[in-house]
Amino acid sequence: MPKDVSDRGPEKEPLIDGFGRHISYLRISVTDRCDLRCTYCMAERMKFLPKIELLRLGELERLAGIFIGLGVTKIRLTGGEPLVRRNITELIGNIGAHLKDGSLRELTMTSNATQLARHAGALYEAGMRRINISLDTLDAEKYRRITRGGDLGKTLAGIEAAKQVGLEIKINSVALKDDNRAELPDLIAWAHGQGFDMTLIEVMPMGDLGNDYRDQFLPLTVMREDLEQRWTLVEETYRSGGPSRYVRVAETGGRLGFISPLTQNFCAGCNRVRLTCTGRLYFCLGQNSHLDLRKPLRDGLSDEDIAVLIRNAMTQKPLQHDFVAAKDDNRPSVARHMSVTGG
Ligand code: SAM
Ligand code: SF4
Repeated sequence: MPKDVSDRGPEKEPLIDGFGRHISYLRISVTDRCDLRCTYCMAERMKFLPKIELLRLGELERLAGIFIGLGVTKIRLTGGEPLVRRNITELIGNIGAHLKDGSLRELTMTSNATQLARHAGALYEAGMRRINISLDTLDAEKYRRITRGGDLGKTLAGIEAAKQVGLEIKINSVALKDDNRAELPDLIAWAHGQGFDMTLIEVMPMGDLGNDYRDQFLPLTVMREDLEQRWTLVEETYRSGGPSRYVRVAETGGRLGFISPLTQNFCAGCNRVRLTCTGRLYFCLGQNSHLDLRKPLRDGLSDEDIAVLIRNAMTQKPLQHDFVAAKDDNRPSVARHMSVTGG
């Protein structure tokens, strides 16, 4: 039985890491699988994990409940593509039930939207109100190339369905040196025209993709200069609680975020931890320290004992990520793929 802070009652106090940061946000990668193979995220011939290694939906639900008991108030489901996991809407409904008593304040998701036309209604019914959707181009041929086979029409239909049911949408685009640099202003204008927020993301060196990430890497400092040729960007004090820094585009009236892990470190206010589809709790996207929760779950530990393990492990959360180490190097700074930890 794990000891230490158990007598204080693990459910009663917030999760605090070794640097005094309050951990209130959990991201859960519900699957490493995906129906797309984006060039910056996956290798062309991905080897996925054996099913037995994945947490079952009941195990994911149980861990989500334990984290909510530990004061986590926001959960984001990600992957892989969360909507390709079978019976995912059941899990969403069950986690969403915690929204009713206010113990969970927000349940949200990051999705590629290919399956969203089918599921948007169920997400809204489960209490989801916002969703992040990944879209790097509005050119069907380029979309097929970047995603290695994706159908832009299906994705846009998913986005439209989400809009129709009333989900608030944020579009995430990875800034890519050759593929979308010239197009991003138009994509931003489109998103703002639809009433969506938009965030640009720098490519992070994760997982062996069989390429050199520097061939795709576009510093957002450069992208911002491009945008300033066309628009007036007004600094915003708004923070979503995440790593994005926001501006308002004066001409479109829309909000634009920048996630720049390589050119602007954002770790000081980090409030999140990440649970992989295999039950590993990572304290940072860009570091390797983790706590395995699958074994304690399958060994039959009680919720209380698992909560103590989690609370005690918070001291392992590092001050900041290590992506900068890979800046002048073509090797990924962490070996696992983004789809395992969840972006
Ligand atoms: N499949 C879903 C999707 O694409 O939205 C959720 C998982 S995906 C891994 C989450 C986010 O990570 C996406 O916005 C994607 O663009 C981003 N991403 C994937 N690999 C990345 C990388 N190497 N660098 C930066 N962002 C990446
Ligand atoms: Fe799939 Fe999302 Fe990775 Fe693209 S970024 S391959 S959609 S998990």
